[in-house]
Amino acid sequence: MIQDSYIEDIRKSFPILHQKIHGSPLVYFDNAATTQKPIGVIKAIEEYYTRLNANIHRGAHHLANISTERFESVREKIRAFINAQETSEIIFTSGTTDAINLVAQTWGRQNIVDGDEIVLSMLEHHSNIVPWQMLAEEKKAIIRVIPITQDGEMDLTQIDSIINAKTKFVAVNQVSNALGSINPIETIISKAHAVGSKVLIDGAQAVSHFAVNVSKLDCDFYCFSGHKLYGPTGIGVLYGKKELLEKMPPWRGGGEMIKSVSFERTTYNELPHKFEAGTPNIEGVIAMGPALDFINETGWELFSENEERLLNFVTDELEKISDLRIFGKSKNKTGVISFQIEGIHPYDLGTLLDQQGIAVRTGHHCTEPLWNFYQVPGSVRASFAVYNTLEEGEIFIKALHKSIKLLK
Ligand code: PMP
Repeated sequence: MIQDSYIEDIRKSFPILHQKIHGSPLVYFDNAATTQKPIGVIKAIEEYYTRLNANIHRGAHHLANISTERFESVREKIRAFINAQETSEIIFTSGTTDAINLVAQTWGRQNIVDGDEIVLSMLEHHSNIVPWQMLAEEKKAIIRVIPITQDGEMDLTQIDSIINAKTKFVAVNQVSNALGSINPIETIISKAHAVGSKVLIDGAQAVSHFAVNVSKLDCDFYCFSGHKLYGPTGIGVLYGKKELLEKMPPWRGGGEMIKSVSFERTTYNELPHKFEAGTPNIEGVIAMGPALDFINETGWELFSENEERLLNFVTDELEKISDLRIFGKSKNKTGVISFQIEGIHPYDLGTLLDQQGIAVRTGHHCTEPLWNFYQVPGSVRASFAVYNTLEEGEIFIKALHKSIKLLK
C-alpha cells in the first residue's frame, strides 16, 4: 500500500520540484511531454564534464577509456531494462523521432515497394506518421489506419482487413501520449507477423509507466526517448532484432559507423556502431544510467500505484464539473487525462493554471488526426509521474475551479 512518505522521499531527489512559479509551489503535471530528472542524472552530467570528458571508442588514454566504459555499460543496462537478447541490438539515437526515421529510411527504403501497405493507428504521434508518409510517397505505398472507439481504444473489429496480405509494416504506439490508452500491441504484433509484416512499437509513453519486455512482445523494433524516462534530452533508443539490423543498410554516414574507408570503397562497422555515425551524445547516454537506477530502485509497483490513485482522484473530480468532457476513457490507461470544457479554449485554461503554478499541456499534443476524429482542436492534458502527490491533485482541482469561474 502506497504511503505519502514514499512519494515525499522520492521528491527529495528532484530539485526542480521545490520552487515557486508565479508565487505558487510548482505542480508539474506535464510529464508526458518530458519528465523531471533525479539528482543522480544531474550529477552524472556534471561529473562527466568535470572529470570524464573525452571522445569515446577511439582513445588510447585514461579518460577516453573511462568514458567509453561508462557509455557502453549503459547500453547493457538498457538491454536489461527492456530484456533484449543482445547488447548489439541497442542503438543510441537522439530520441524516438530519430529512431523511427532511422527505420523508415533504412528497413523501409530497402523493403517497401509500390502497392505495399503500411499500417498506423489513429492514436499515433506525428513522429510515427510523417516518416511513414514520406516513405509511402517515395515508394508509392499505401497508409492504412487502425480506427479507435469514442473511448480512445483501438478498434480491432476490422483488423483482419486492415492488416492483410499486402501489409509490409505496422507502426503503432504502446501507449497514447494524448489519451494514455494502453494499446493491445500483443494482438497487433501477432496479426502482423501472421501476414509476414514487420512491426515497430513506439514506446515513448510506455517505458516510464511499466516494465517492457521486447523479447516477450516479439516486436521487430521498439523505440523510446530518454527525456520521458527521467533521463536527459537528446538521447533515445532504437531496439531492433539483430537479424533485421544486420541486413539493413546504414543511414547516416561518417565516423564511428565504418570499418574502413577508401575513395573506392567503404566497409561498415558492426552492430550497433553501424547506425551510430559521428560523436554521440556521450553525457546523455552516461546520465541515462542513473535514470534507470532510479526506476529500478523505486520499483514499478510504486509508479503504477501512485499514478492510479492520482488518475482516479482527478478523473472523479473532473467528472463532477459540468460541460467538461474527458477524452480517452480506455479501461487500460496510464496517468494521463485529456479534457476540454465547452466554451473555454484549452490555451486560456492552461494559461490561468500556469499563473497558479500548475504546468499542463494544451493543444493537439502532436496528434492532429486524433483531434480531427473527435472534431475538436485539442485538449488540456494533465499527466502524472511517480513524484506527483495527491495534494497536488487537490491543488490542481481547486485551481481549475477558480479558472473556470474566471473564464465562464
Ligand atoms: N511518440 C510518442 C508517443 C510521443 O509521446 C513522443 C513525444 N511526445 C514522440 C513519439 C516523440 O518523441 P521525441 O520528441 O522525444 O523524439
